[in-house]
Amino acid sequence: MPVDPDLIALLVCPACHGDIEYKERRAVIVCTACGLRYPVRDNIPVMLVEEAERASSSGSGASSGPAAPEPDGGEGST
Ligand SMILES: [Zn+2]
Repeated sequence: MPVDPDLIALLVCPACHGDIEYKERRAVIVCTACGLRYPVRDNIPVMLVEEAERASSSGSGASSGPAAPEPDGGEGST
């Protein structure tokens, strides 16, 4: 069962109150104004800013580098 288009028409971006667009193939709702992407779970749009993802600017670079461990800066020995 797809998302009700009448419901989509009522929705606005909670972040900027801009118009949103439902991407059915990706099951996401994209704000056309600020570009935030909201997930659709079980055909229910999750219009929460904290659940939204920012659209990656360009390319698909998965740069998920863990924070480099800090080297020991000398042990405090008195
Ligand atoms: Zn927005």
